[in-house]
Amino acid sequence: MIKILANDGISNAGINSLTEKGFNIVTNHVRQDQLINTINKERYEVLLVRSATTVRRDLIDACPELKIIGRGGVGMDNIDVDYARKKGIKVINTPSASSVSVAELVFAHLFGMVRFLFDSNRQMPIIGDSEFKKLKKSFSQGKELAGKTLGIIGFGRIGQEVAKRAIGLGMNIIAYDKFIKKAKIKLEFFNGDEKTFTIETKEIDNLLSNSDFITLHIPKNDSKAVIGAEEIGKMKKGAGIINTSRGGLIDETALMFALDKQKLSYAGLDVFDNEPNPSIHICMHNAISLTPHIGAATIEAQERIGTELADQIIAHFGK
Ligand code: NAD
Repeated sequence: MIKILANDGISNAGINSLTEKGFNIVTNHVRQDQLINTINKERYEVLLVRSATTVRRDLIDACPELKIIGRGGVGMDNIDVDYARKKGIKVINTPSASSVSVAELVFAHLFGMVRFLFDSNRQMPIIGDSEFKKLKKSFSQGKELAGKTLGIIGFGRIGQEVAKRAIGLGMNIIAYDKFIKKAKIKLEFFNGDEKTFTIETKEIDNLLSNSDFITLHIPKNDSKAVIGAEEIGKMKKGAGIINTSRGGLIDETALMFALDKQKLSYAGLDVFDNEPNPSIHICMHNAISLTPHIGAATIEAQERIGTELADQIIAHFGK
């Protein structure tokens, strides 16, 4: 019986499809420093991880019976993918399973920031009963998203899902992508109607200087931030920025400086430098809407991730 270790968990839907096909799937979390021993002792042939467990060369070298490494999610920065593939191990992930969930989180941050929900939810429990009028006044300069321009950096799977929702809200879109020149965005409605929009991507400077809000949907390829002081300098005064991609894509120091100087009005962050210990200054900043890396953390996305991984494993072993 083929044994699978899902070290960072997997949805019940995934467990059920694998069990039905005769796989033995174990979901106990094994500590990183015990992982090599456990994989070899228990003779696991498949290791499934999310972002918590790392799979580096040492583990790949030390576990010759591993046949598949699976990442539930998109980014594979916690796995030495090329090295594993060179060693004949199949590396799989679930690239589209969480796109809708991440795109919706972008709008949770966007709606929250333009009406100051993130700050209101911090202040109401403390002074809501005694200083209601003061709070009402301090949150009175809200804005509508309709009619505003959303700059989308990275026009892949998530960027395009974001575009669909922005179009639905009556926003303008400027997209930038290093490789994609244009994309067809198909909106499907509740009654079966559909409408397709073709969006041509623009230069980054056009996006930076004309967007009311900017959202990032690119991988993190090198150590340099994509949005630093120079790029912030090109942005509209009072703009907002959202990062649900990877920590480090925005220079956090430059961001806090821009918020303090009111060059930018607000930011929404789901990902941080130095996760899982983000800067306390970022966490306490009153112009930042914060979530602890939950872009893909919906029931629907986790179900899809589990079944997509299971389908690939079942296909690989020809079950
Ligand atoms: P994708 O590969 O479909 O799209 C990424 C796009 O970025 C591609 O079109 C690519 O051409 C473009 N690109 C790459 N480098 C670029 C650069 N320097 N400048 C401009 N464009 C560039 O990926 P996706 O599925 O849309 O995911 C986007 C990001 O979201 C990834 O970083 C992923 O790790 C992250 N993500 C986060 C969460 C979360 O929990 N917050 C969940 C899923 C994905």
